[in-house]
Amino acid sequence: MRSYDVVIVGAGIAGMTAAIYVARAGKSVILLEERMHGGQIINTINIANWPAEPGISGAELSQKIYHQVNNLGVEVEYVKVLSVEESDEYLTEQDAKNAARRLFVVKTEDGDYTAKAVIVATGTEPRKLSESQMKDAGKRTVSYCATCDGAFFKGKPVVVVGSGNTARHEIAYLNNIASKVYHIHHDDPIPEDAVAVFVAIGRVPNTDAVKNIVDLDESGYIVAGENCKTSVPGIFVAGDCRVKDVRQLVTAAGDGAVAAAGVLAYLA
Ligand SMILES: Cc1cc2nc3c(=O)[nH]c(=O)nc-3n(C[C@H](O)[C@H](O)[C@H](O)COP(=O)(O)OP(=O)(O)OC[C@H]3O[C@@H](n4cnc5c(N)ncnc54)[C@H](O)[C@@H]3O)c2cc1C
Repeated sequence: MRSYDVVIVGAGIAGMTAAIYVARAGKSVILLEERMHGGQIINTINIANWPAEPGISGAELSQKIYHQVNNLGVEVEYVKVLSVEESDEYLTEQDAKNAARRLFVVKTEDGDYTAKAVIVATGTEPRKLSESQMKDAGKRTVSYCATCDGAFFKGKPVVVVGSGNTARHEIAYLNNIASKVYHIHHDDPIPEDAVAVFVAIGRVPNTDAVKNIVDLDESGYIVAGENCKTSVPGIFVAGDCRVKDVRQLVTAAGDGAVAAAGVLAYLA
């Protein structure tokens, strides 16, 4: 089993920012990422509200932060975390006497890691179609990203499911590509001639791996205040998977810094 001072789950903007702070403080740290570093922003062409770099693409921003992470010697493994559990061992003999800080075991699809502290920065993912709409979609392509997949349907009729800002954005984008863009709401029937279904019905938190150890709210977000401390001492949360009002890049990066500072104080 590989051992680190800090294991960070998720290499989005929150996780990578936390890694920068932890590494610069001289602690051993690994980022465990299921898909691609950068997280949900990597397909966004024009980023807004990121200071000093107006219009930078998500891919470029992610790559810049990743280089910084790399230059600090942070290890990154591309693997899905399945669970975070408390072990029977303590950080020090004193901790054992006080029944205080226990080591954590982070279980993945490819082996386990031990950590003195964990930062959960697993973000959110698009909400999936309902079972009935999935059935209705049949063999048609179902996509959660018009920017990624829209070009495959040039000159063809497509449908966008959803009613919020993201749906409006997807419709505007597809209007330049498809022959027709239908707009329907969640659970409306899918028009017969549409060849692809673009889904924009909101997002849900990626918190399955920690649902048995930390407190979640009724929507599955990790309960923690602005100090990013979860219900379990030693486990911190950063970014969009935390209960919060504003889910943006700067708040994700801010959480990364706060969670890292919390971890450093916890380990001191
Ligand atoms: C289309 C779109 C456009 C946006 N545009 C802007 C914008 O212009 N400006 C702005 O400020 N904000 C924007 N946002 C919001 C912004 O992207 C988010 O607030 C921010 O990226 C959240 O970062 P995060 O690190 O918390 O989470 P995420 O980016 O979601 O990263 C979480 C990472 O954790 C990984 N992960 C999840 N579960 C596991 C697991 N079990 N094991 C291992 N890894 C796991 C995921 O693969 C992912 O890489 C946009 C969001 C979207 C969807």
